Amino acid sequence: KASQEATKRGWHLYVVGGAVRDLLLAQNIQQEPLLLKDIDLVVDGFHESADAGAGVELATALQKLYPNARLDVHGAFQTAALLWHKDPELDSLWVDIATARTEFYPYPAANPEVEASSIRQDLYRRDFTINAMALRLTTPRAGELLDYFNGLIDLEARQMRVLHPNSFIEDPTRIYRGVRFAVRLGFTIESQTESYIRYAINSGVYDRTARENNKTPALSTRLKAELKLILEAPYWKRALELLDNLSALQCIHPTLKLNVELLRQLRLLERCLQRFDNSQAITHWLLRLEAIIAHLAPEFRSKVATNLQLPDDSIKRLSHFSKAMDNIAGLTECRLKSQVVGLLKKYDLETLILAALQSQRSIRRSIWQYISVWRFVQAPLNGNDLQKLGYKPGRAFKEMLDDLLAATLDGVVNDRVSAEAFLSQ
Ligand code: ATP
Repeated sequence: KASQEATKRGWHLYVVGGAVRDLLLAQNIQQEPLLLKDIDLVVDGFHESADAGAGVELATALQKLYPNARLDVHGAFQTAALLWHKDPELDSLWVDIATARTEFYPYPAANPEVEASSIRQDLYRRDFTINAMALRLTTPRAGELLDYFNGLIDLEARQMRVLHPNSFIEDPTRIYRGVRFAVRLGFTIESQTESYIRYAINSGVYDRTARENNKTPALSTRLKAELKLILEAPYWKRALELLDNLSALQCIHPTLKLNVELLRQLRLLERCLQRFDNSQAITHWLLRLEAIIAHLAPEFRSKVATNLQLPDDSIKRLSHFSKAMDNIAGLTECRLKSQVVGLLKKYDLETLILAALQSQRSIRRSIWQYISVWRFVQAPLNGNDLQKLGYKPGRAFKEMLDDLLAATLDGVVNDRVSAEAFLSQ
């Protein structure tokens, strides 16, 4: 239908990027069944400047044919998306429709060289050869693969090859994309591409990430988006190792290294998330990133979290982490459970987990016990019970409740009778 609508208007329509890569991988190489959830289409072949909105026009026409699809238009980028959400037959499917990104060219659309050059330019803007192929949907030559940069050869050789030497300088997030695809697909990074990555890193990527926060979307926002994709994927550890081998963790901070200690902490974090986060209250990828940032020297943490535009809570946690660690070190002095609870209750779960990762074993044990058991302990009598016993709410009332909880934690009180006896002392 999309190609019919494009043909009606005299345009050409292509599937581009990841969908073509995955289609070829499934068909030619892995021979696995494929479920495409995200399809990028590009329209070109027009010659009126007014047609620059072709992608939006096509999406609008298609939405009329498929009324159960939701239409989102991104005016500024001249792209539109159609979303079939949980369609029983399609599950959920995104179709992005963009207009070929190229300078306006004042030539007739019938000129095949011009047509090719517009989609060619669109593909040349992309990151890796395997992501820069297009499949033509419109006639003539429907079904033809446009592979100007030998993506198919690289797909067969299972390697990530960048399109041009300056690519990583232009956009350092491509380093993270390259690593993510390499690990996900089991590909290697082609050697020349690797040397371009190292060159870009050595040319001071971190300074740029920190500086280019005023652009839209800021480099740091895109870096955070890539980090999220990596850190929420099952292969996050291998991806971090590859980033570290390429010295690419320097994009986060020049001193960041995935050393044995950080790896140990990240492994511990996994065990801890499995044990304590039954309700999935913690955003796992974000806490992994916070653990990585907390591994930096204290004076860098807040700046790195701010640069990456992490949520306010994360920035606050990392800014105050060093002070929290100092306080929590006071656990070695605590003899009673109530003292442990008194010290730890002012911290949120994430801070406690991060602190446990960096603490010696005895402190870590107390934190685990607090998180898993002690923070849930309740006294046998609550505020209502106290009022029924004739106590009046106020400051002293609050202190009584606190004392009662402490006595319960320390085993002095264990039922209502002992609680009442405790209160009357
Ligand atoms: P995935 O299966 O992870 O969604 P994808 O290839 O579809 O893979 P997207 O992030 O959706 O990944 O990007 C779509 C296409 O846009 C890519 O295939 C690539 O051609 C291009 N692209 C995305 N990000 C960049 C970038 N930073 N630089 C250049 N091209 C990019």
